Amino acid sequence: MKDSALIVVDMLYDFIDGSMACGHAEEAVAATLKVIGRLTAGTAGDGAGIVPAYPILFVRDHHPADHCSFTAQGGPWPSHCVQGTRGADIHEALQPYAVEELTFFKGEDRDREQYSGFEGFNTAGQSLSEVLRLLEVDEVLVCGIATEYCVRNTAEDLLRDGFRVTVLKDALAWVDPEGHAAALAEMEVEGIKVK
Ligand code: ZN
Repeated sequence: MKDSALIVVDMLYDFIDGSMACGHAEEAVAATLKVIGRLTAGTAGDGAGIVPAYPILFVRDHHPADHCSFTAQGGPWPSHCVQGTRGADIHEALQPYAVEELTFFKGEDRDREQYSGFEGFNTAGQSLSEVLRLLEVDEVLVCGIATEYCVRNTAEDLLRDGFRVTVLKDALAWVDPEGHAAALAEMEVEGIKVK
């Protein structure tokens, strides 16, 4: 599993208990912690000096207050994940595992909607795919929120870019349960593993 990585998409408070709270979000966070627990078994586990069995990458929706996707600007969504607010923060139980070089921000451009973490950048200006290549990863496990939007777009972009992609279904949350189920079925047809 040395060539693998876990990608945690948008496990942020606005999608968990905030303005866009999604179904199954707390359960998805708990399931993600279980996966991480297996990766970090045998290490300190106190947040300092954790060495997971393979890298854990975080994607964060990170909008300016007047982002084009918000209803006030004519977009489809309520205001969410505004930079500097609690809603944009990673769930506190996951924060110890999020390191700066492996955290990728998306949606920072006011005029552009960005569901996919694939195009996100870390604070050093490296893209998610660039860092995955540097880490010599070829298999990615993807979990996060929401299945139908950011998880799906991230997974599809990774598949298109040549990675083997598995979506962890217990560690997902959704805007709509039927949309979630349909998105999983469609991703499987496309060649994304669901387990
Ligand atoms: Zn957003």
